[in-house]
Amino acid sequence: MSFTLAIVGRPNVGKSTLFNRLVGKRLALVDDQPGVTRDLREGAARFGDLNFTVIDTAGLEDATDDSLQGRMRKLTERAVDMADVCLFMIDARAGLTSTDRELAELLRRRSGNVLLAANKSEGRAADAGILEAYELGLGEPLRISAEHGEGMGELFAALAPLA
Ligand code: GDP
Ligand code: MG
Repeated sequence: MSFTLAIVGRPNVGKSTLFNRLVGKRLALVDDQPGVTRDLREGAARFGDLNFTVIDTAGLEDATDDSLQGRMRKLTERAVDMADVCLFMIDARAGLTSTDRELAELLRRRSGNVLLAANKSEGRAADAGILEAYELGLGEPLRISAEHGEGMGELFAALAPLA
C-alpha cells in the first residue's frame, strides 16, 4: 500500500525544498519553464525503501497580499483532500505567524492525519521557534532542515508506518 503526502504551509517555509529532496530535481525544472505555473505539483517520492506520492502546494509566490490568503486556503484544502497525510511545515527561524495559526486551524478541522515539521531547524536560531510550534496543537514538531538534510531519519520514522 502506498500513500499520498501533502506538504502544506505558507510561502517560503521550505516546502519545495523538501519536495525536491524527496522527488528529485527533475520535476523542479518544470516550474522554470516560461509560462508554466502549477498550483499543485505532484511527484513520486523515493525515501529509503518508501515509495509514495507527494504533493507540493506551489503557485502562491506570485500572489498579491490581497489574494494570497484566499488562494492559499483553497489550495491547502484541495491538497488536504487529495492526501492521506499532511506535513504541515513552519519556519522555525521565523517563528509562528498568524497565517501559520490559521492554516493549522484548517488542518485540525479538515485532515485526520497531520504531521508537524519545524523546518530550517539547523542551529540554535531555531530553538525558540521549535518551542513555539507546540502552541499549534498538532503534537510534537519534527525538527528538520530540508536544505541541509537534517531530521530526515525522524521524518522517515514518522512516515514508515503509513506505507
Ligand atoms: P516554499 O515557498 O515553502 O516552497 O519554500 P522554498 O522551498 O522555496 O524555500 C524558501 C527559502 O527557504 C529558500 O531560500 C530556501 O533555500 C530556504 N530554505 C529551505 N529549507 C531550508 C532549511 O532547512 N534551512 C534554511 N536555513 N533555509 C531553508
Ligand atoms: Mg514552493
